[in-house]
Amino acid sequence: MAKGYNANQQRLADISALGKQLAKRAGFRCEWCASKDDLRPWDQHPGQEITEATLALLCQRCRALADGTPADPNELHTLRNALWSDIPAIAEGVATVLVRSRQPWVREAIEESLLDEAIKTRLLAEL
Ligand SMILES: [Zn+2]
Repeated sequence: MAKGYNANQQRLADISALGKQLAKRAGFRCEWCASKDDLRPWDQHPGQEITEATLALLCQRCRALADGTPADPNELHTLRNALWSDIPAIAEGVATVLVRSRQPWVREAIEESLLDEAIKTRLLAEL
């Protein structure tokens, strides 16, 4: 138990250490929707090694979407541009949210994106 707690504290410290670079990369805007609302790092793969590639600076709303809150179909269009990012936490992260929404335009958006073919195949299999 104590070990898990310490590991979690260490992880939060590691994320925090990357926070400044992350904010700079993001231009102090949400990397999914460009909002400036309560920006914090989002950890794409808890349990794996933390790098800048697996962190995205997200607003409160996008963090909720990332955690599985159902999205309003209209707001999803604001996330579409993030599919073009070459940073996995941005492009793959947003793709996962789009797939979960099952909107009719999502398949085409993912097919057109520059995501890795293996990732595309996996995502499209869920649609
Ligand atoms: Zn956002």
